[in-house]
Amino acid sequence: MILQHKCPDCGADMQYDADSRLLKCPSCGKTQNIKDMEPDFDPNAKQSHDAEASADDVDEVYGDFEDFEEQSTYGTYEDNEAKHYICQNCGAELITDADTTATICSYCNSPMILGDRLSGKMAPSKVIPFTISKERAEETFKKWCKHGLITPKDFTKADRISSITGMYVPFWLYDVNGRGEAHAHATKVRHYTSGDYDVTETRHYQVYRKVSLNFNDIPADASEKMPDDMMDKLEPYTYQDLTDFNTPYLSGFIAEKYNYTDAELFPRIKQKTEHYMDQYISNTITGYSSVTFTDRSYDTRQKNAIYSLLPVWMLSYNFNGKNYLFAMNGQTGKVVGKPPVSKGKVALWWGSITLVTFLISFLITMAAGGAF
Ligand SMILES: [Zn+2]
Ligand SMILES: [Zn+2]
Repeated sequence: MILQHKCPDCGADMQYDADSRLLKCPSCGKTQNIKDMEPDFDPNAKQSHDAEASADDVDEVYGDFEDFEEQSTYGTYEDNEAKHYICQNCGAELITDADTTATICSYCNSPMILGDRLSGKMAPSKVIPFTISKERAEETFKKWCKHGLITPKDFTKADRISSITGMYVPFWLYDVNGRGEAHAHATKVRHYTSGDYDVTETRHYQVYRKVSLNFNDIPADASEKMPDDMMDKLEPYTYQDLTDFNTPYLSGFIAEKYNYTDAELFPRIKQKTEHYMDQYISNTITGYSSVTFTDRSYDTRQKNAIYSLLPVWMLSYNFNGKNYLFAMNGQTGKVVGKPPVSKGKVALWWGSITLVTFLISFLITMAAGGAF
């Protein structure tokens, strides 16, 4: 099932426009507010891990996912690994990856939204729509390259960008409750002089903290393909922009479905939460000379997990036959990646340092010589 959003005026394929955040017709300029559009899929048919799910629903969420795995919906997709779709615009036959949920026809450039992979259990609850357009992404990227200290001259030219792709990456956003108890041994050390004596006074304290903390929207990327560390570095996203999902947001972009369930990724969230709790508790123990934790126990519970799509610009860049990959937060413009280092520039850079060192030592020698 391919979903298309045709312009009601001229029939062209409408696309999401990051500048206006509206659905826009590239041919006649007509716009539509996506928030006013009926969702393509009944939101009630979605899984129970909606934002509104109550604490009682939590067990059911897990149950849902286990059922889902046993029915091996994944298997069905794997059978269709090389699924063929026919572009309704130009008739071209496209072969898509099993994880793709939205793409662009490589022949006629029209958006293709693969509805069968976005409905039922696979329906995202929320999306952060792109706020950075392709043009702005390219511009930001160029600026970012220029700020790199040692980049090859050619690298900063935009025409070296071999591909720039707007991509919605699947994430789980967790709401969790962390309960914890911590015991610590703390000291207060005071030095003073009393008569002929230098006195060091050490007081010992038993410190105890018990906390219950709620955390919202802790993200974990659920895509197998995307490098975890790269995705972690793209954070933070501003979650106030989380919007109810609707398929028009995907028009003109690539989107992928999740490979890991929220339960499978929970250990990563647990680790993050415990780190936050550590920080929180440490910040409440102040005014001591030393603090040593003797015992800490944490219990992290998932209250809720929302399947969300977050915007990322992926840029691949070819330099001297080597491909470089960069990612840009499609909401904030933050770039993650490493520009290549040119040998010429390194030599020049070292050259200038060596020259300065030489000049300084030369001047010192002159000064020293002058003194005699
Ligand atoms: Zn139109
Ligand atoms: Zn086509």
